[in-house]
Amino acid sequence: MSELWQRLRQRDFHLHTRFSDGAGKPQELLQACRAVGLKRIAVTDHCEYAHPYSILDRWDEYVHTMRQLQADAQKQGIELLIGIETGVDIHGNLKAPSYVLEQAELIIASVHQVNLRPDESPTSISQEVYWQRYREQILMAAACPQVDVIGHIEGYLVTDWEQLAADTFEKRRQLEKELVKEIFPLSWYKEVARTAAQNGVAVELHGLSQSPRPEVVEVLKAGGVKLSIGSDAHALHHVAYYDYIEALVAQLHLHANDFAAFVGL
Ligand SMILES: [Zn+2]
Ligand SMILES: [Zn+2]
Repeated sequence: MSELWQRLRQRDFHLHTRFSDGAGKPQELLQACRAVGLKRIAVTDHCEYAHPYSILDRWDEYVHTMRQLQADAQKQGIELLIGIETGVDIHGNLKAPSYVLEQAELIIASVHQVNLRPDESPTSISQEVYWQRYREQILMAAACPQVDVIGHIEGYLVTDWEQLAADTFEKRRQLEKELVKEIFPLSWYKEVARTAAQNGVAVELHGLSQSPRPEVVEVLKAGGVKLSIGSDAHALHHVAYYDYIEALVAQLHLHANDFAAFVGL
């Protein structure tokens, strides 16, 4: 195991608890992190307007609980960042109030819903326009200096999987690998790289969806974008679920300085 991987596998900056749609209580998550040897983590529950599992209504309780968890983690030699996962709206603003954004120690922006324009509806637009809106949304996240990380940039695509007859997690991921080649070309990633690098926005290596593609990481790296690492565990046994990322780090000969400062390598 490379020295870099030994350090990277002790980090996970995308974790959910029962506060949003994760399965474990905060203390159970901390225990699971300790069990797999994590040293630096971020709890990033959903805080996003209109998200069905948003913690926004319980924000104060979340912060209070996470501060206690942070203190407990510290006693166990684990640094814990109090984070959120949110999204961007049609104007490029984050879908969370400013007091949340100020208090959050790590902000992941992901696409959980594609924002259409007022004159558009899912049935009135073509697939082509839909994916164009999707790309615009990612570029807006990359242009937002408050964002620390773009989450699952080409994993967990928001689309009508039922229509595509992808009824299992594996089928969706398999189909996704094909789809992204068309909808997110490498030429477009150059623009993402330019924008993200300019604004200090990192891109996540996402454990559970096993994305992005190696060639995408190369384009981002060449454009000066820094990387983050996260499993996006909702279940406790998925904490630091990193088979794909371990292979990717080796294949691309990634270095410590390819990762964002908060990764703390
Ligand atoms: Zn997400
Ligand atoms: Zn997530």
